[in-house]
Amino acid sequence: MKRIHIATPSKRYEVVIGNELLHMIDRMIDRVCPHVTAVLIITDETVASLYLADVQQALHQTYDRVYAHIIPSGEEAKSFEQFYACHTAALTNHLDRDSLIVALGGGVVGDLAGFVAATYMRGIRFVQVPTTLLAHDSAVGGKTAINHPLGKNMIGAFYQPELVFYDISFLSTLPKREMRSGFAEIIKHSLIYDRAFFGWLQANVQKIEDLNGDRLQYAIQKGIEIKAAVVSQDEKEHGVRAHLNFGHTLGHALESELGYGVMTHGDAVALGMLFAIFVSERFYNQPLFYSSFRTLFHHYGFPTSLPPHVSPERLLEKMKKDKKAKDQTVRMVLMKEIGTVCVERISDEQLLQWLYAFAE
Ligand code: NAD
Ligand code: ZN
Repeated sequence: MKRIHIATPSKRYEVVIGNELLHMIDRMIDRVCPHVTAVLIITDETVASLYLADVQQALHQTYDRVYAHIIPSGEEAKSFEQFYACHTAALTNHLDRDSLIVALGGGVVGDLAGFVAATYMRGIRFVQVPTTLLAHDSAVGGKTAINHPLGKNMIGAFYQPELVFYDISFLSTLPKREMRSGFAEIIKHSLIYDRAFFGWLQANVQKIEDLNGDRLQYAIQKGIEIKAAVVSQDEKEHGVRAHLNFGHTLGHALESELGYGVMTHGDAVALGMLFAIFVSERFYNQPLFYSSFRTLFHHYGFPTSLPPHVSPERLLEKMKKDKKAKDQTVRMVLMKEIGTVCVERISDEQLLQWLYAFAE
């Protein structure tokens, strides 16, 4: 078992990572959240069918009042309707200020349940229990949100959990495409912050299936340590936290243009990272071995070229609408070398030219 300490200005908490840890979840929670009156587990249909009974049983070892609220699986659940339904469940089960919400699932459950915890009675404690690889990213850092029809993650709060309890045995049932999606964010963490870790990934993960056992735990641990280091310096994204957006400017544009769920978040981010490396070579006028990255990403099964029907003009428009764009000028995270990135402004004409060149 590995413990990572997170210290943001608003809160200190721990991420516990290990295999087959479920039997100790109640004691781990009790240590950091004393005097819990009731527990509400929020989870999705898929995760509920696999793990809810086991989690409830483990929590009953310490808590008498354990309730569950199940939301539909998928991004659509990050809606106002589901947010409201979670609050209804909290109220009908008489949760009070000393109750606890447990977010059991991937990033969708974590973002929604975290926002419910941030707002129920002006904020009650919550614990993240991630069940996807991508959630190594979403469960740490305290960003919680739901979507508005006019924009993803537009309504939310910065709200940190009391504990992140990561039992990697949950990942054994995760479909390959979801594993690959989470792996993209692990690669991202290495590329923005830790050259040696990127080398380790290349040497130890030849294919997605290699991500198991100790290698999986180490990759998650490193990814979380990097995210923790970044958010500890900049909890509310005034500076370096923006580096986590590497690959996301084009990635988000693609997801929005194609419709959410068509491409996984990680596949879109992987393609976005390739584009960012392509642009970096040209912007800084130095070789970064774009073609070897392309080969590597192709090998892992990530898409390496833009879908033929999406137009560069449309992508540019979406990139300009990004939350991080300022004065309608696109700001992209570019790579100076592996492990070092920087935010740069790029003019529309230049970006469009590079999008066309990338699409060829
Ligand atoms: P997800 O939560 O939708 O999970 C992906 C799919 O896997 C779902 O169908 C789910 O039911 C299923 N699943 C989950 N665990 C499983 C398991 N153990 N076995 C089998 N199936 C399982 O998606 P995700 O990729 O985990 O997260 C994506 C979301 O995270 C997006 O909404 C994104 O905006 C958000 N996100 C948030 C942050 C943040 O900082 N808050 C960061 C990155 C992403
Ligand atoms: Zn992401």
